[in-house]
Amino acid sequence: MHAVPTFRKGGVHPPDQKVFSREQEIVRLPLPSELVVALSQHLGAPAKPLKAKGDAVEKGEKIGESVGFISADVHSPVNGTIKEIKTVTLANSVQCDAFVISVDEKQPEDVPKPVDWKKLKKEELLASVKEHGIVGLGGATFPTHVKYAVPRDKNVEYFLVNGADCEPYLTCDYRLMLEKGKEALEGALIAAKILEAKKIIVGVELNKKDAIEHLKQIISEEAWPIEVVGLKVKYPQGDEKQLLKATINREIPSGKLPIDVGAVVSNIGTCYAIYEAIVYKKPLYERIISVTGEGIVNPKNILAPIGTKVSDLLEFCGGLQGEVEKLISGGPMMGFAFFDTETPITKGSDGILALAAKKKARQTPCISCGKCVDACPIGLVPTLMYKQITNHNYEVAMNSLSLMDCKECGCCSYVCPAHLPLVHTFKTGKKMGRKK
Ligand code: SF4
Ligand code: SF4
Repeated sequence: MHAVPTFRKGGVHPPDQKVFSREQEIVRLPLPSELVVALSQHLGAPAKPLKAKGDAVEKGEKIGESVGFISADVHSPVNGTIKEIKTVTLANSVQCDAFVISVDEKQPEDVPKPVDWKKLKKEELLASVKEHGIVGLGGATFPTHVKYAVPRDKNVEYFLVNGADCEPYLTCDYRLMLEKGKEALEGALIAAKILEAKKIIVGVELNKKDAIEHLKQIISEEAWPIEVVGLKVKYPQGDEKQLLKATINREIPSGKLPIDVGAVVSNIGTCYAIYEAIVYKKPLYERIISVTGEGIVNPKNILAPIGTKVSDLLEFCGGLQGEVEKLISGGPMMGFAFFDTETPITKGSDGILALAAKKKARQTPCISCGKCVDACPIGLVPTLMYKQITNHNYEVAMNSLSLMDCKECGCCSYVCPAHLPLVHTFKTGKKMGRKK
């Protein structure tokens, strides 16, 4: 019997907690009266505002222009008026300017006229990906047009699609695969054309067998050259390094990218966004987000405009219940705890979690058990990095202990019996190290 594909080093098995929202079909959020659309919702330089207070905006209109090499355009999700431009703090603590848009009561009807993408050249497709503001929707928000601009001296053998959906609680990618699987797979074909990739592989964890079967059926009906691989349920299976190891048995050396070993990785949600951008000329102005956890009255998978305030999402889900310990943007392993429910969602928001209060675990000194070392999928030594950073030796942590290779996956924090804030310390250590 063949072993189930996975990565070998480290990883953890947190309870998947998808039960709250996995059966919930994607529902569209009724339009809120106001949206807060941030100019920095991607990795790289914030977009330059193209509108001023009092200006009217149209649905799909570009309102923020990418600045510099790594940046992405921002589009209005609605017809409305710019009420003001103000500084906001996003859930990941990034501060940036944002358009506050007062939403018109009457909105234009979407009349989709599909484009035959097969007639377009790869350069035209890539330009369209840029024009529609596509970024990686798996959380990293790296501008897709930059990732897909393959240097002349590199070749893409594999285009890997991350359908692992490995973060506990989140079900947006699972629902997407079930409900929009065909479109997402067609998006993968478009991406592969841009990249001139020779092979497309979609990796999905085996706790989503129905999604795997569904995708396989579409592929067989359409006779598309795509392979779906069922992966062992193990966190962080969806990280590009781990996905590469599991699907094509290649390792990315320290400081290198998937392209250096002949692969490009995108999330399944990004493939869907590419499909919509190319086939329906639809900019990335809305996304599917899971609002879930013990503390949500009616957990849901919601198609919401970018810029929706968390308070509007919570209200749509019947509000909070019980004693909620914290709100998290993203999953419990890699997400960001936040408090202000007026915070808007961005292109990278895949989940809002309301976690029930638990008995507070007491932090104790490190007992040198080595569990964090065993759990790290990158092969780092979290206990030593933690000691160096807490002693303000950022350069040692960076140069001798490869702090910058840390993926902030949270496996070390998850297993630490001393409940040390390891991943939080590494995030701070990276920031301080960069400053130095
Ligand atoms: S957060 Fe960083 S150090 Fe901790 S397990 Fe993940 S990659 Fe390793
Ligand atoms: S898991 Fe925690 S207690 Fe154990 S070695 Fe790592 S930091 Fe120390």
